[in-house]
Amino acid sequence: MISKIGVVGAGAMGSGIAQVAATAGCDVVLTDINEEVLQIAKNKLSIQLGKLLEKGKLDALQLNAIFGRIHFAPAYSALADCELVIEAVVEDIHIKHKIFNELEAIMPTDAIIASNTSSLSITEMAGKLKNPRRFAGIHFFNPAPLMKLVEVVSAIQTDANVIDNIVDTLFSWEKIVVKAKDSPGFIVNKVARPYYGEAIRILEEGIASMVEIDHAMTRQGFKMGPFALMDFIGLDVNLAVTTSVWQSFFYDARYKPSFTQKKLVEAGYLGKKTGRGFYDHSMSLPAFEPEEDSTLYDYVFKRIISMLINEATDTVQVGICSEEDVELAMLYGTNYPKGLLAWADELGYEEIIYTLDNLYDRYHEDRYRVSPYLRDRVSLL
Ligand code: NAD
Repeated sequence: MISKIGVVGAGAMGSGIAQVAATAGCDVVLTDINEEVLQIAKNKLSIQLGKLLEKGKLDALQLNAIFGRIHFAPAYSALADCELVIEAVVEDIHIKHKIFNELEAIMPTDAIIASNTSSLSITEMAGKLKNPRRFAGIHFFNPAPLMKLVEVVSAIQTDANVIDNIVDTLFSWEKIVVKAKDSPGFIVNKVARPYYGEAIRILEEGIASMVEIDHAMTRQGFKMGPFALMDFIGLDVNLAVTTSVWQSFFYDARYKPSFTQKKLVEAGYLGKKTGRGFYDHSMSLPAFEPEEDSTLYDYVFKRIISMLINEATDTVQVGICSEEDVELAMLYGTNYPKGLLAWADELGYEEIIYTLDNLYDRYHEDRYRVSPYLRDRVSLL
């Protein structure tokens, strides 16, 4: 089992990953190019652990042991004897390539090198290494200590033993681990796209208002409606992920970003963080009395859930992950109230296909094409 971990980049993700590994009993070396950031990470960690102590989730002995296991080091040379180094620096492939070259030069030949990237190609990064077989993606979600899910991503070059070793290590850290083949957005960021995209389409067509669409989803158990969630995530971040997935899938219509969202971003309406996004957060949200007749909400929900299920089944169909992992990924990466395949079973595959076929007939757009997996499921029934 891996017991000495290195983390490059002590920002939001790197410091969280260091906390998770140290809490699980690993020795951790946390580095950052910026010594001030390292000091901030140290202070933040002390505050985080202090809160856990206050809540009784840790005792003082455990707190000191966890803190003592993290070595804050400004130089990469401190990573030389790590068995696994996870890179969590800014999302810039050139900076990442440079770091991997430096790591390869100092780390043992059998040590694993991994990236926490959300959107860059694991295969392209591996391709720049002398030994690409030791490279993988380890995609934690924010905040890493709280979010249970980790996507382990294999490039076509990655050695199967490397994946097994990472998966075993993450299980021992009490994470929920899903395996994904390298593909844009991996599992969660690909499958979740219609939650936002289809909601915006329904709004743009004037079928329902933002509050009605949000209500249609929350009444089915989603913790936040699409518009409230986009405002929370940040419209700029959400648009960047959609654009990246869309471009990486060679401009597949299913992921096409919307002008509505782009214009809001251009206006600086980025969501909660700027006080205004889809909603104006400077004033209380408009009072909303749901209609008693649920026809509209049912239509909105059916349309969005059908698109999500289509995306989930497509992800399994093209071999990115297993059925079991697509369920776990959406339950624990996005906190959906139910797995999407379980939802499909409940609603009926024929009903999902019917909804998508109707959308395709109406719009003649490729974004509504039905995954062959869905049709196969029906023919097997
Ligand atoms: P961040 O900006 O909070 O932190 C990045 C850190 O990297 C900074 O502290 C910076 O000083 C440091 N850095 C930059 N160049 C460096 C170098 N050459 N050597 C060492 N350190 C260097 O970023 P973040 O949000 O923690 O994201 C880091 C990575 O994790 C990105 O690849 C991002 O895509 C991915 N990710 C982010 C999230 C998220 O929600 N923030 C979620 C999952 C994955």
